[in-house]
Amino acid sequence: MDAPAASTSTPVSVPAKTALAARPLPITGLTEEQLVVLFKKHKEPAFRATQLRQFVFGRGVESYEGVTNLSKALREKLKVEAPMYELEMASTSVGDDATKWLWKAADGALIESVQIRTPDRTTSCLSSQVGCAMGCVFCATGLSGFERHLKGHEIVEQFLQMRSKSGNPSTHIVYMGMGEPLHNYDEVLASIRMLNDPPPKGAGIGARKITISTVGIVPGIRKLADEKRQIELAVSLHAPDETTRVKLIPAARRYPIKEIMDAVQEYSEKARRIVTYEYVLLAGVNDHPEQAGELVALLQTHPCKVNLIPFNPVADSGFQRPSIDSQERFKNILDRAHIPTTIRFSKGKRVDAACGQLRRRVLALEPEVSVS
Ligand code: SF4
Repeated sequence: MDAPAASTSTPVSVPAKTALAARPLPITGLTEEQLVVLFKKHKEPAFRATQLRQFVFGRGVESYEGVTNLSKALREKLKVEAPMYELEMASTSVGDDATKWLWKAADGALIESVQIRTPDRTTSCLSSQVGCAMGCVFCATGLSGFERHLKGHEIVEQFLQMRSKSGNPSTHIVYMGMGEPLHNYDEVLASIRMLNDPPPKGAGIGARKITISTVGIVPGIRKLADEKRQIELAVSLHAPDETTRVKLIPAARRYPIKEIMDAVQEYSEKARRIVTYEYVLLAGVNDHPEQAGELVALLQTHPCKVNLIPFNPVADSGFQRPSIDSQERFKNILDRAHIPTTIRFSKGKRVDAACGQLRRRVLALEPEVSVS
């Protein structure tokens, strides 16, 4: 049993939903050309648009107060016409090595992000949708259903705001928050461009430090392969056979494992990256030694890595975390087959970091859960 949760959190009341239309877009939601037009309207030269983006992406300012090369009068106008950020911080949950953030979008939707700190890196875990349509039965977000796709700038803002509010220069990004990124392909790719491009166009995070995690949306994997951006790809497999997999990820029935493996192979070749398979370990469901053997048979034909994730309990899911012995037995079988395998220690479990947990708690759908 872990020590009691060493986290602090600030609850919020549930916001009313409002329409997204007819609102001024934030800086990251405007193109370079649209920003230039805005500055010209205020009789300012075009290079001011580039400077402003440099302040946002390069220097990571938290508000217009930090944009010191613009007059106070102009800053006041821009705050209304092109707000620096659109997401409002609704609450935070702070642990020793991770901080979880809950954001309120312009329409009142709630979005989660997590910043995870280790000695050698700080990773921002971003959401790509409000809710998720994949319906994974062990996942808080999957249990809540799908509401809408996030816009590219709503995804990028999670990173920018966590970076500026924490003062911690995030080095890595993972799309492992709420949502299936490849189900929202165009907006996710728009966000990747903004995060990957060097300042002033983007935040300058290297492609190899950005990871997309997918349940295996085959057309999305193939499309991403053609981008040739060297983004890291993680595929949530969770079972070596179709029957178990479809029970765990109902949406997976559209893409058989063989098709996913073929698409992954293509991705590996075109992006020149070794793909990681994620496997959430659920006691008595997919942690049997025979299933580890089937996984070996499936994966040993091509280079890959495996990330075993002992289940992080979600209320009402009905699943349990396997014992340490069971986790290690499963790993040993993959080790003996020389498949590089790690067991992921859940850094965020003291801050409700299983996707969707903080949001569900704020929405009062889930009582406190004890983590064993
Ligand atoms: S685990 Fe990921 S893909 Fe599955 S329901 Fe949750 S957010 Fe969606």
